[in-house]
Amino acid sequence: MIGRSGSGGGSRRILALFVVAFAALLVAGAIAAAAPRIQPEVLLALRHGDSYADPVFYQASVARQIRADAAELRRRGEDVKLAAVPFVPGRDLTAYATALRTQLHYGGTLVVTTPHGNVAAAGPRDPISITVALTAIGADQVVDPAARLLAAAEVSTPPPTDSGSGVRDLIVLVGVALAGGALAIGWGLRREQRRNHERTMESRGLLKVYADALGARARLLSAVRTDDPEAHGLVEAVEAYHAAADALIIHATTEPELAEGAHSLRSGFGDAERAGEIVGRPFPHATPFAGLCAVDPAHGAVANPSADGSLCAACTGRLRSGQELVPRRVESGGVPLSFLEAPVPYGITTPVGIPVA
Ligand SMILES: [Zn+2]
Repeated sequence: MIGRSGSGGGSRRILALFVVAFAALLVAGAIAAAAPRIQPEVLLALRHGDSYADPVFYQASVARQIRADAAELRRRGEDVKLAAVPFVPGRDLTAYATALRTQLHYGGTLVVTTPHGNVAAAGPRDPISITVALTAIGADQVVDPAARLLAAAEVSTPPPTDSGSGVRDLIVLVGVALAGGALAIGWGLRREQRRNHERTMESRGLLKVYADALGARARLLSAVRTDDPEAHGLVEAVEAYHAAADALIIHATTEPELAEGAHSLRSGFGDAERAGEIVGRPFPHATPFAGLCAVDPAHGAVANPSADGSLCAACTGRLRSGQELVPRRVESGGVPLSFLEAPVPYGITTPVGIPVA
């Protein structure tokens, strides 16, 4: 992995890494000596096992993944513990990792991350070389906490030939960086990419429900007879926003495309509300599914709002014939749930003109 050097780009890269190393040295020098407080449950968990994930700040699926990664690293012969801790009081996560490792009397590498995305490691390798390694691969840019810990572990554990010398570590690292960060952290990074893809697919699924709801509102509005030119214009706008959003969402493969689709939805729901006010049919922007079938807004309007009030004609018929009705499912964070339970994406229900929190 170290063989590829000598190109102009490579030298610049090496220079950049040395600059980073120097900056890390300055930071390390500036760190206050105050020992960070270690939570007793973190100590307890790591004394008896190879991983910890705070149950309040991390999902159960993340905790499971961290456990599995720690076990896999152990199987590979790596002496490493992974900890996803709560927000660390004070600023310096490296000092926290070092203090935790000391209190555990642990000889291996301890990798720590926080919910903010900070990640640090303390181990037998030179602290500067670890900091440089984490900076070089952009470990704190990895969104998923489990993948972040794994990527950090993969570059902060000692290479087999480790001499304990910071300069030597740095040379190894520059080699790693030249060979390609993706190769060095392949496992954790690939999973992060897969996760990004899954997130995009989830967002698409959820946004499509909102697009279908806007489509249903557009159909209902265009069926209302009115001579009001403003209402006509607004209904046409709603139809256009729906068509644009639908196309964007169906074909979206990236976050900006999804955001664009969501923006069209938001504008469409806003215009649907205004059109509804003119023609005397309430379509509140804040509740995009109101007045639509509770099984699937794509079905259209509630058949008999005055009676049981939440199903379309077809679903009412299915219910009467004894069929079980299951609300449309979406996925959120890998968990399947009813579209009604999913968090509102991209601030779609926030009125146009008001910044989305
Ligand atoms: Zn229905």
